[in-house]
Amino acid sequence: MKPLNILSSGISIIFMACMLSLTSIAQMPGFIPMDDSLKAMLHFYDADTILVVMPDNYNIPSNDIHALENFVFWKDKPIYTYKHESEFQATDTLKKVQFFGPANKFSSQVIIDLPFQIIEDGFVFKGRRFNQPQDAFYYMHPSGKRIYTCHNGEEYSLTYIGFLAGAYQLYVFHGNEIVYSGDHSLTSAESQLNDMDKLREVYFCRIISSRYFKLNFACTFTQDSLSDSLGIELDDYVKQLCHYLNVDTLNIRHINTYCYNLPGELNYFIAAPLWQTIYGKSFGDINHITGFDLPTFKHETGHSIIADKIGDNPSAFFMEGFRQFTDYFFSETAYNNDLNVFRDKHELLTPALVTAPNVEFFKNMAHYSISGLFVAYMIKLVGLEAFKAAYAENNIEGMIKQKGLSVEQLIHDFKNGILK
Ligand SMILES: [Zn+2]
Repeated sequence: MKPLNILSSGISIIFMACMLSLTSIAQMPGFIPMDDSLKAMLHFYDADTILVVMPDNYNIPSNDIHALENFVFWKDKPIYTYKHESEFQATDTLKKVQFFGPANKFSSQVIIDLPFQIIEDGFVFKGRRFNQPQDAFYYMHPSGKRIYTCHNGEEYSLTYIGFLAGAYQLYVFHGNEIVYSGDHSLTSAESQLNDMDKLREVYFCRIISSRYFKLNFACTFTQDSLSDSLGIELDDYVKQLCHYLNVDTLNIRHINTYCYNLPGELNYFIAAPLWQTIYGKSFGDINHITGFDLPTFKHETGHSIIADKIGDNPSAFFMEGFRQFTDYFFSETAYNNDLNVFRDKHELLTPALVTAPNVEFFKNMAHYSISGLFVAYMIKLVGLEAFKAAYAENNIEGMIKQKGLSVEQLIHDFKNGILK
């Protein structure tokens, strides 16, 4: 991710205040406003305890529990308790309940009042069958007491977190793409939905396809400098990056990149609050960028390739650091620039930053340079392959321990080496 603005402090206050004043921001034609659902979402988490209910015979993977419990960052995190649906009691309905798991594995007594029809292999919405593993939904019940975060395939269980779902009452996802978002009233016909396929069809006109990319440009995009050879140049970047990362280029997922015209437009398509101008955001094989700026494009593509060929890591520090490190393969200037930033801001690198919640990382642009250099240092120490394996297994601290070191010691040595 590449945010434009640097939030110096008080992110939770900014989050609350700005999210609640969305109505004052110009509305993009064709989109449903986000404000009311957001209040309901904030209210839902304004509880001491959240009860997570799973289908019987289903257990949440520990990585999912970690992500689920770290969703709330704007206030003290609630305590999460877990139950299988057969343990769910009448008194539990008084609590704030998050249903989590494949919708078709819940029994029809528990998973009620949904705008989705649950079918054997998935669900149906607006007459369309969503029965692929990558199909998922998020739904806030109008009572404000229940949210449903359901998915067909295990690997798509957390899509709602990537999109910080809650700006709308309802989302339907297909992989990393939002298919529908909006508000769905159960009692009246006043549902308001963003039909994202249609909105994308209207907004994007020019498409450039290449071996690894599909680039979608906004109809209002007026950059004449987009040459026909752009696709070839970008494909070359992917090949070189794979070469440097020592991964093959076989079966790379086609990367769908959406290029928006004006700052803020991107936010509507990913349902992101408007208080933050986002230059770029990567959701695996789908990237979104404002304008067409080559460094931003390469930045988000780097995330996609790492995710595809190496794996995912939930930590912003390591995710951005590893991505930033790849710049050094291409440019010594990139390395030297980061070195200058680090010399200036070295006190920011602490063990707390390495393990900080992602929102802390994104508060300061200098963290990109710091994490990039620190990852480069670790790779020099353990080797690229060992780092790649630990990154994909989310076991970087374990890797450090195996070397007989601690994060504290590593930071200490790194600073000593680089600042002398
Ligand atoms: Zn990034």
